[in-house]
Amino acid sequence: MKTLEAFGLHWDGEVYYQSRHVDIYNDIINDLQRNKLIYPCTCSRKTLTAASDRGQPQPDIYPGLCRNRQTLPDGPHALRIKTDNRIISFQDELQGLISHNLAKQDGDFIVKRKDRIVAYQFAVVIDDDLQHVNHIVRGFDLLDATPKQIYLQQLLGLLTPRYMHVPVIVDEQGYKLSKQTQATAVDLASPHRIIFALLVLLKQNPPIELQQAPVTELLGWAVEHWNPVLLKNAHTVSCDD
Ligand SMILES: [Zn+2]
Repeated sequence: MKTLEAFGLHWDGEVYYQSRHVDIYNDIINDLQRNKLIYPCTCSRKTLTAASDRGQPQPDIYPGLCRNRQTLPDGPHALRIKTDNRIISFQDELQGLISHNLAKQDGDFIVKRKDRIVAYQFAVVIDDDLQHVNHIVRGFDLLDATPKQIYLQQLLGLLTPRYMHVPVIVDEQGYKLSKQTQATAVDLASPHRIIFALLVLLKQNPPIELQQAPVTELLGWAVEHWNPVLLKNAHTVSCDD
């Protein structure tokens, strides 16, 4: 929140904390479980690797080992949602038409982890609906999550927002800049310099006179001149310094 404020990015309404909505997520999960759309899964990574060695074509696709279990497991287990063969399609504002078959490309996916944490996939779908989110702009690295979220929206009878997946910044090796790859946090001391650099990276061609402009002026320019066509189909942008 401090970072957003330093960058002149303000939010409307109260801050929404997922930790305060755990009961809502769990109620919906329980409903789906009663309707046999969600089932417990005790598979470990080891079990899944072994299954994939026995001829499962792609190790990342869940082969449905626990789908037809009749009794509830005693020990810790994850909860998976059943997928089907429907084609999930959406028109991404930058990446074009995306079509995805969850059953074939992912298999049944986890909505609640073994450690009882509700999966990101599931929580955000509920959050977006509760907050009436109608446009989602986020990094290209989350494009694969979108068909799962749209599937959940369809199951729960929720509206599907519009999506735009913008390129992520990568280093010289092609890795996304992130905490995991030890990228340094953004410097709060000179936000205008960073916003200017980002606008250049996002191919928005900010006029050089704006280089020293205050944050609000830069953002005002960016809103007025934002042209996503310049980024069409881009998955990454790379920073050299
Ligand atoms: Zn399983």
